Amino acid sequence: MAEKRDYYEVLGLGKNASDDEIKKAYRKLARQYHPDVNKADDAEAKFKEVKEAYDVLSDSGQRARYDQYGHVDPNQGMGGGFSGGDFGGFGDIFDMFFGGGGGRRDPNAPQRGNDLQYTMTVEFKEAVFGKEADITIPRTENCDTCFGSGAKPGTKPETCSVCHGSGQQEVVQNTPFGRMVNRRACSQCGGKGQIIKEKCSTCSGSGKVKKQRKIHVKIPAGVDDGAQLRMTGEGEGGLRGGPSGDLYIVIRVKPHDFFEREGDDIYCEIPLTFAQVALGDEIEIPTLTEKVKLKIPAGTQTGTYFRLKGKGVPKLRGIGQGDQHIKVVVVTPSKLSDEQKDLLRQFAALDGEQTHENEQSFFDRMKRAFRGD
Ligand SMILES: [Zn+2]
Ligand SMILES: [Zn+2]
Repeated sequence: MAEKRDYYEVLGLGKNASDDEIKKAYRKLARQYHPDVNKADDAEAKFKEVKEAYDVLSDSGQRARYDQYGHVDPNQGMGGGFSGGDFGGFGDIFDMFFGGGGGRRDPNAPQRGNDLQYTMTVEFKEAVFGKEADITIPRTENCDTCFGSGAKPGTKPETCSVCHGSGQQEVVQNTPFGRMVNRRACSQCGGKGQIIKEKCSTCSGSGKVKKQRKIHVKIPAGVDDGAQLRMTGEGEGGLRGGPSGDLYIVIRVKPHDFFEREGDDIYCEIPLTFAQVALGDEIEIPTLTEKVKLKIPAGTQTGTYFRLKGKGVPKLRGIGQGDQHIKVVVVTPSKLSDEQKDLLRQFAALDGEQTHENEQSFFDRMKRAFRGD
């Protein structure tokens, strides 16, 4: 068997990585290698490797042991709580990230609510200048009547008498190979560890209700396409007093007809006539906020960029703004009157007698390329 890679290396982190960094790295890599989305042959193996690294490093006890002893020999039976066979079937990728994960836990322990994701499409300029909006998201919240317990007001859920609250039952079977002990979810309480005798009528005993919840969102100026805003505690309600999950708002920015954006900088193209660039001109340019005057010097070539400092997008973190870059595109007229044609012919005849240093070197270079130099 190939030698195991260092768990930190697997997640691309240093030994001092914080819990948050570990979680982030895991989410990113698990998304990348999840067999639902990645069809490469080694995706499953990679995914398991990432999962194993995360399982160990996200548990402070196991992480401390790993930091001290490294990979424990699996033959000693005290590995990081992971073995190939344990990992039967991959859940739906959405469940993975937004379902709080599996694992055997105390059925009575508080459980954090699920995270939710909402995609919000905004106009180009709304992303530049920021926006406030109310969105409505359907989410599961704790029932107000029973405060999430599921029991009718005035009553309380009782500890299950069969499993004594553990939610698990041991089933002993005698087989030709000896006694086998299986653990399974308690048949009386269904693994919850508690029995609700009188159910809350609002939520039918689930402790949860579906609500359309209006949430006020502040999109900061300067967000870009794909940005993710986290609204702490605005996800689904937790169980048994656990904290609520978070709401992630993914920003999609609509393209603009005239402006293009690259980070904090804005790009645009302006069409100019041959006469404008040859003789020079002063033109008006739209920026994100206003019109500004731009001087086009005589002899400007097509493809030349002009920069308007500070006319770009406000920086999301920090002070200042990007720039606006304006590319000159000289437009060749496609329809000419006879008089215009005559004048151009006269111009061409005159032009042929003159030498232009810049253009000369340009034509020289092209001639050399034709010769194969
Ligand atoms: Zn039970
Ligand atoms: Zn209720």
